[in-house]
This record gives sequence, structure tokens and C-alpha cells, in this order.
Amino acid sequence: MRFRDLPIRQKLTSVILITCSAALLLMAGSYIVFEFFSFRKAEERKVSTLAIVIASNSSAALAFQSQDEANEILSALRADKKVTAACLYDSEGNIFARYPKNLNNKSFPVKPDVDGYSFKSGFIEGFQPVNQKDVHLGTLFIKSSLAELYAQIQFNSLVSLVLIVATLFFGFFASTIFQRAISLPIISLQKTARNISEKGDYSIRAVKIGNDELGSLTDAFNHMLEQIEVKNQRITEVNQESSKLAAIVESSGDAIIGISLELTISSWNKAAEIIFGYTSEEMIGEPAYKIFAFHLDDQQNILEMLRSGVQIKPFETQVLTKDNKVLDLSLKISPVKDSDGRLIGISKIARDITELKKNERRIIEKEEHLRLATQSAELGTFDMDLKAGTMMWDPRCRELFGIYHDKEVTYEDSFLTGLHDEDRDRINKLIDEAFDKNLSGGDYDVEYRTVGQTDKKIRWVKAKGKVFFDQDDKPVRFIGSVLDITKQKQDELRKNDFIAIISHELRTPLTTIKSFVQIVLAKAKKNSDEFTIKALTRADSQTSKMSSMISDFLNLTRIEEGKFKLQKQTVDVSTLLNEVVADAQMISSTHPIKLSYCEDSKIEVDSDKISQVLVNLITNAVKYSAAGSLITVGCEKAGEDLKIYVQDKGEGISLKDQEKLFSRFYRVENEKFKTVSGFGIGLYLVSEILKYHDSKIEVNSIEGEGSTFFFYLKDVA
Ligand code: ADP
Repeated sequence: MRFRDLPIRQKLTSVILITCSAALLLMAGSYIVFEFFSFRKAEERKVSTLAIVIASNSSAALAFQSQDEANEILSALRADKKVTAACLYDSEGNIFARYPKNLNNKSFPVKPDVDGYSFKSGFIEGFQPVNQKDVHLGTLFIKSSLAELYAQIQFNSLVSLVLIVATLFFGFFASTIFQRAISLPIISLQKTARNISEKGDYSIRAVKIGNDELGSLTDAFNHMLEQIEVKNQRITEVNQESSKLAAIVESSGDAIIGISLELTISSWNKAAEIIFGYTSEEMIGEPAYKIFAFHLDDQQNILEMLRSGVQIKPFETQVLTKDNKVLDLSLKISPVKDSDGRLIGISKIARDITELKKNERRIIEKEEHLRLATQSAELGTFDMDLKAGTMMWDPRCRELFGIYHDKEVTYEDSFLTGLHDEDRDRINKLIDEAFDKNLSGGDYDVEYRTVGQTDKKIRWVKAKGKVFFDQDDKPVRFIGSVLDITKQKQDELRKNDFIAIISHELRTPLTTIKSFVQIVLAKAKKNSDEFTIKALTRADSQTSKMSSMISDFLNLTRIEEGKFKLQKQTVDVSTLLNEVVADAQMISSTHPIKLSYCEDSKIEVDSDKISQVLVNLITNAVKYSAAGSLITVGCEKAGEDLKIYVQDKGEGISLKDQEKLFSRFYRVENEKFKTVSGFGIGLYLVSEILKYHDSKIEVNSIEGEGSTFFFYLKDVA
């Protein structure tokens, strides 16, 4: 492994050890070299001193040529073990004496060399002149071994080496301990950095060890992390915001299109793809005028306007889609600015209003049709805003109230005041009912008279309308039409008058006929004239039927003319029911009629009218059920009220027909009852008479099983 790839601990330990070893080696080397040379110098001095002493001692022996003496002097060298050889040369340069004596001449240089000392392979050799008062007597050669010296140096070197190794060991341990001071903060930083990069968690902080440069580095590192964390958080927030924004833009039903300052399309959302038919890949980078039919100059103008802060109001325009369809768009153009408020683009939000426009056109067309229709039908229209309390009447509606100005009209002053006195309360009540969703479902269908505000003319008007309710079922709008039915009404009144006169005129002779029939019948019964009894019984029942029909017609005309009056009295229910059933049984012998009583019950009614109601119901039960099937007339207590009912086991009535059953002249279209005669006024009269008694006719009927007609009256017993 390369040095630079080593872990910092090893690096530090290595650096310390290498530095230490280098220093120690240099020191030990220098010491050994110094010792080597200083030892040699000392040795040279020692040998030369010895040589000088020996030379000066040998001068006499040489002068007197005394070889024995010379050898004797040289043998003194024995005292120094290092001296291995020595000899004396005479002045001629011949070996005169030698040490050790037994060494042959070859062991010595043949002739003395120049004075001085030299080192030669483990020895120091030298020549020392032997003089006496400037007379050269000879030369001393001395050779001393350096083995001891070298052994000493070797020993010293070994000691140095041991010391170096020991020092290095110590250095290793010391460096392992002390390197931590440097490596720990760095390792801590490195671990923190690795943790952060692995976990991506910038909230981790490096532990600060000491206040040195590494401490400052840790502080700086932590500070940097803090900044990164804050920035990261901001980036996350911005990312979240922008992804939310992107999701909103993508899920928007409106096309949201980004346009750069170069007027090219820079963003194109899903709705834009759906509305225009181009994908974002097709449109991004394309010039904006490819979609919006403005000329490039207009786009430039828009850009300039936005740049100078001018707001562009939403406007409607038309564009061509990819498949060449013309779309109506509502377009909002807004500037897109950076955080410094500089314009960096344009956003266009386009809403497809094609359907809306189509509907608008359709409504305009319909309104036009309606206008033409109402115009030709001479229908007047009214529109009441119940929240604002305002009322709009068209000219025709105004005309029907004898109003010929176009000033404001109000419910109280124009409508209620304009109603005929005899109709006002009724109509006011019906309008209250129309405003009650549960009661009327918002339907309004009435006839009333108006008294012209300026011309005081009485007009008959048929008004139809619809009330609209809010989510709390409160009425908010009331619209409808009014039609002049004066002529029709006059015809009807004339017809009613006619019927009334005829009915009235017929009633007297009919009563006379009926009484004569009954007298003759009584006589026939006495004589037991069976044929006459049968004939007169039928004649009597037919006159009763006729008299009931005449009563119906008279009541109808009275109701229509508002002349219907009640003559209330307290009657015993059982008695009333008994009488009615007895009469009915006489008229209709084809069906058994069962009566179920309720004892001690009294009602306060116009007994003729209530009898008429019951007769009509029983007549219908007979008419619309098979001969022989049972009819039940009865009464039940229902709290404070009495429920009076007529039940048959006949054909029954469909739900659809039940809704219209009580309307004037309504007859169910049924093949089975084609031959059953009637005018469709029986149930209408029943319902109207009961309304006058503050009651209401109701029906429960199942087709094929029969019907029960019933109503409630207060029990006053
Ligand atoms: P009509 O003179 O036709 O009997 P009504 O007003 O008395 O007129 O009745 C209206 C219609 O209601 C009848 O044509 C008939 O079809 C239906 N209707 C009335 N009562 C009954 C009943 N008890 N059973 C079946 N249908 C009935």
C-alpha cells in the first residue's frame, strides 16, 4: 500500500518513527564516525609517542652499533600488546634490530619510508627518525594493531543500535499515544462526514476535541453542516411547495401554460393536453402564437404591458385545437416574477368555456323563443327574487293588473292590492303554500280576478309558477306566467249559470216526480203488484241518482262562482252514515254495503254536503267494482279525529292516476270502465267540499285489489 493511502494513524506513527529513526541514525552514525576518527587519531598519537620514546632510547644503540642493546630496547614494546612489529633501520636503511626477534625481514618494509604514520588494513604503521643532534642515525618502524580499537568501535555501534531500537520502540508507543491528539479529531470528522453521506442526515455534528486548529476545523465543519442543514430544509420545503404546486397545476381542470420571455412555451399541463390536443412534448419550446391566435406583435405588447405592471383582465377568445376544432376559452394572462420581482415569463390560464358558450347561445335562443311564444300566447311573466324582495313584471303582466307604467312593482302594492277582494285571502294562502316545499313542492297553479289599478277593469287570470328553494328549503325565487282567461271564464260562468238554472229548474219537478213515485210505490206494495213495485223501485232509484247529479252540478257551479256556503250543525256520525248507507243501498242493490259504526261520535259539518261526499264515494265504489263485491262504509277513532272511509274490492287505481284523481273533469282511461257513465266531477266536488271543512280526501289503492277513500273530521262529542 502506498504511503498516501495509509490511514492517518499509521501515517502519523510512521512519520514519527521515520523522523526519529532518521535523527537517531544520523546521530549514531555521526557519533560512530567521529569516534572512529578520534580513536584513530588517539591511536596514532599513542603509537607516535611510543615511537618517539623508543627512537630516542635507541639512538645510543644505533650510534654505537650495539645490536643487542637495540633489540633490548625494542623488546620493551612487549608491554604494549597492540604493537605487533617494530624494527630499527641503520642510517644506511638496513634492518638493524627487530621486534619480535623471531620475525624475519620480510615482515618489515625493505627500506624505511618517509617519516609519518599511515593506516593499513587493520594496522597503524609509521616511521620515526632516530637522530642525535641533527645527525640521522637511523629510522624506527613500528606497526600496531587496530583490532582492539575496531572492537571498541563495533561494541559502541552495537550499543548505539540497541539504543536506537529501544528508542524506536519507545517512540512507537509514545507516537501511538500522542498521534491520537491529531488523528482523533480528524477521524471524528471523517466518521461524521461518512455518517452524513451514508444517512444523508445533516443534523449530525462532529465532536470537538481541543481548541487547536483541528478544534477550529471541527467548528467550521459543524458550522458548514448547520448551513447545509438550513439550506437542505429550505430546499425540502421549496421542493414540497413546488411538488404541491406541480400537483395542483397538473390536476387543474384549466389549461396552465408557461411562456418564456422569448415567447416560447415552457410548461404545458395535463389539462392543456386535453383541451388543445397537443402533448407537452409537442408544445414545449414551440412559439406561443402557435396556439394563441395573436400575432407575435400582440404577444410582444402583452409582454411589455406586463413588464410595466399593467394588469390584463381575463378575456374570452377562440383557439383552434390540434384536430381543428374551434374552442371558446376564457383566458387569464399573468406575469411570472422571480423573488426579486423581475419578470421571468408569462402564465396563461385557459378555461374551456365552449359548452358554457353553447349553453349561453342556447339560452338566448330559448329566451327568444319563449319571448315569441309568450308574445303570441299573450302570456305575461313575473319573476320574484325572494331574497332581495324585488319583483319583475313584464308589460303584459302589468297590463293584466291594469298597470301601464314601467316603474317598480311590489308584491304588496301591486300584486295583493291588485287582486279582487274575494280572491285575495285565498290566493295569499295558496302562495304561502307554494312557498312551503313540503306542502306544494313549489308548484303554483291558480285562477283569480284582478281589479285594474288604473282602469278598474275586472279580469280573470290563470297564473302558473314555480318556486325555487335553497339547500335549507327556503324559497329564493318565484317565477311564472299569467294568462288572461276572462273570456273563457265568462263563457264558463255563463255555462255554470245555465247549468245552475237548468239544475234548479229540474230539481222542483224531480222532487214532485220522486214523491209521486213513492206514493204510487206504496200503493203498489199494498196491492202486492210485483211488476209495478219493481218498475217504481227502479224509477225511484233513477230519480235519486238524477237528484244526486243535479246536486253535484249545483255544488260545482257554486264552488266555481265562489258562492259555496256551508250550513254547519253538530250531527251524530252513526246516524249520518246510517242514512247515507240506507239511501245508497236502495239506489245500488247490486252491491252489499257493510257499515261499521263508531259509537257516540259527533261532527260539526254541513250534513247535506258531507252526505253528498259519502254518496259520491259509495256511487264510485259501486261503479268501479264488480257486482256482488262488498263495499264497507265506516268510521274509526283517530286521536281527537274521526277517520271516515269508503272501501271497495274493485279494480283499484294506478299511482299515476291517483295524483290527478281529484282534478276537475278527470276520468281514468280504462277499457273496462268505458261504458261507465260519468263527468269526472264527483271526486273534485268531494275534495272541494272537504277543503271547505278544513279536511282533505285521501286514497289508498292497489290495482286489482280495491281502493279505500278516507278523510278525517274532528270528533266534537
Ligand atoms: P266519474 O264521474 O268519472 O266517476 P269521479 O270524479 O267520481 O268521476 O271519478 C274520477 C275517476 O276516478 C273515475 O273516472 C274513475 O276512473 C276513478 N275512480 C273513482 N272512484 C273509484 C273507485 N272507487 N275505484 C276505481 N276507480 C275509481
